[in-house]
Amino acid sequence: MDLTLNPKNQDLFERAKKIAGESLAPRAEMYDREARFPRESFDMLIREGFTSLTLPEKIGGRELYSDPTAYVMILHELAKGCVNTAMLLHMHNSITHFLITLGTPAQQERVAAIVRGGKIIASHGGEAGTSTQWNRRLDTRAERIGDKYVINGRKVFCSMAGEADYYTLWVQVGDDPDVRKSLSFLLCPADHPGFTIDGQWNSYAMRGTVSHGLRIENVDVPADCLIGKGGDPIRVDITPKFGLGYSAVYLGAGAAAYEWVLDYARNRKLKPDNVPITSYQPIQRLIGEMKIELEKGLLMIQRAAWTLKTFGAEEAFPAISAAKFTAAEASASITDKAIKIAGGSGLLRDYPLERYHREARAGLVMPPNSEKCLDTVAKSLIEANPVMAGTP
Ligand SMILES: Cc1cc2nc3c(=O)[nH]c(=O)nc-3n(C[C@H](O)[C@H](O)[C@H](O)COP(=O)(O)OP(=O)(O)OC[C@H]3O[C@@H](n4cnc5c(N)ncnc54)[C@H](O)[C@@H]3O)c2cc1C
Repeated sequence: MDLTLNPKNQDLFERAKKIAGESLAPRAEMYDREARFPRESFDMLIREGFTSLTLPEKIGGRELYSDPTAYVMILHELAKGCVNTAMLLHMHNSITHFLITLGTPAQQERVAAIVRGGKIIASHGGEAGTSTQWNRRLDTRAERIGDKYVINGRKVFCSMAGEADYYTLWVQVGDDPDVRKSLSFLLCPADHPGFTIDGQWNSYAMRGTVSHGLRIENVDVPADCLIGKGGDPIRVDITPKFGLGYSAVYLGAGAAAYEWVLDYARNRKLKPDNVPITSYQPIQRLIGEMKIELEKGLLMIQRAAWTLKTFGAEEAFPAISAAKFTAAEASASITDKAIKIAGGSGLLRDYPLERYHREARAGLVMPPNSEKCLDTVAKSLIEANPVMAGTP
């Protein structure tokens, strides 16, 4: 298993590291405090070409989903600077990749022109009444009327609502109860008057994602805004890729907390010993555990990325689920330990540890959540070993 970074994309990794430290990190606290979309950071990523990362090379991109190891390592670096920005970038880059993968040549060209023009694409599947992780039978419906689709419904957890230029809506087309035939993607311009923010994002974590509720009333779009066919949004070679990127993003909170608290502990001295608190055995134990958890998370992500590249998305699904589970749990644990090391100061809003902890906490519920990841891993095992299956 080769986990090294492809030299072809080393430049992107180095630039991500620089941008994260110099530009994203200094603004991360502000976006969290103000619960504001990271506009300035996103504009910089657009200028630097990071919103075109997953476009094919022949239409102006770096085709990074063909090098998933580089893709996740770049996301991880960016997340160390700002978890919100990295998460939203991953959403945009992944939905761009899906639309390009599923679209006709004309649709691919349209999506590429949108992205090359510096526009942002969001992906809105979540609904209040149905689980997008489990049953996936959605209430938002698109009806074909002449040469248009007319969409009605309401979405929740709509990251970048009111900020993105295009919304990719997950909708039911037709009445087939089998979502593998009816669940579809519709790419809609966000400035259609039928969209209204309905439910202000007021969360304790990932505040900069501005994941408002969105009411959709008679939004009509040309029929060729339907990308792909029924069932595509939940294809096993499509949706799991979201989970791979989230693993890298949310582990970024843990990595940032680890790096910050190590520096803090090296410099924190107390009377009468007057030595760095890293000299104390209980602190050393926590540092050792954090380091191992971080490496464990990263290795699982790199293994999943390697599996994706080598065997394809279907084969990589359990590995991606295992990576998401490990990374999210590791990040929550690391950020918790970082606060223990810093002691009472770890709770202060003057320091970033409580923010990292909240962001890592969101990683546990971000789909696929830890329970869904375990379910996928267990089912893959049981399906490969029919003797484990039975009727309870
Ligand atoms: C910060 C953030 C940003 C997000 N942004 C977006 C976005 O931009 N676009 C988007 O589409 N979504 C987004 N999501 C939303 C996400 O897709 C979910 O819709 C949202 O998290 C609610 O789903 P849930 O599973 O967490 O909760 P619920 O659907 O309310 O489920 C509650 C609990 O029941 C469990 N459960 C439900 N059904 C079953 C079942 N059949 N079997 C076993 N367990 C079950 C769930 O696992 C969960 O633990 C975002 C989420 C977060 C946290």
